[in-house]
Amino acid sequence: MQPPVTAYIGLGANLGDARETVLSALRAIAQMDGVAHVRGSSLYGSAPVQADGADYVNAVVEVQTVLPPLRLLGALQALETDAGRQRSYRNAPRTLDLDILLYGDTQISSPNLEVPHPRMWERAFVLRPLAELVPAMVTPAQLHAVADQAVWLHAQR
Ligand code: AMP
Repeated sequence: MQPPVTAYIGLGANLGDARETVLSALRAIAQMDGVAHVRGSSLYGSAPVQADGADYVNAVVEVQTVLPPLRLLGALQALETDAGRQRSYRNAPRTLDLDILLYGDTQISSPNLEVPHPRMWERAFVLRPLAELVPAMVTPAQLHAVADQAVWLHAQR
């Protein structure tokens, strides 16, 4: 088994009880096999980027994981599917989006997985919670570059 790697996962939801969906995903990630030392950010609210619809609830979580990247992705996609299954009608939109933002220093460019997540540095709803978790990881200039995107502290956990 590989030594634990520090990874960062972005969470977002904008359908149904988005706050409860994100909180329950945080709990589920903390209980995943091969994942430990989970540290979640506060919950944030954000306006949809280039899309209509309700505001999002977002968070970022830091984990130590022994799961290889594609296994971690598979486990997160299972949580997305579970959240989607709670919807009562066929082809309902997904209620939960989980992205692997960073996986240690590893760079991955495969058809199913790109890490670091290619758009993470453009998104205030990622950078704000990430900066809360690891202030040294996000520079003031990077935060300034996304300052026009509406992101607000949604709730303390
Ligand atoms: P989305 O609809 O934006 O959640 O995109 C989901 C698709 O993105 C899945 O098919 C994943 O295989 C792919 N993907 C590529 N890179 C990543 C990443 N870093 N984290 C999560 N999904 C990813």
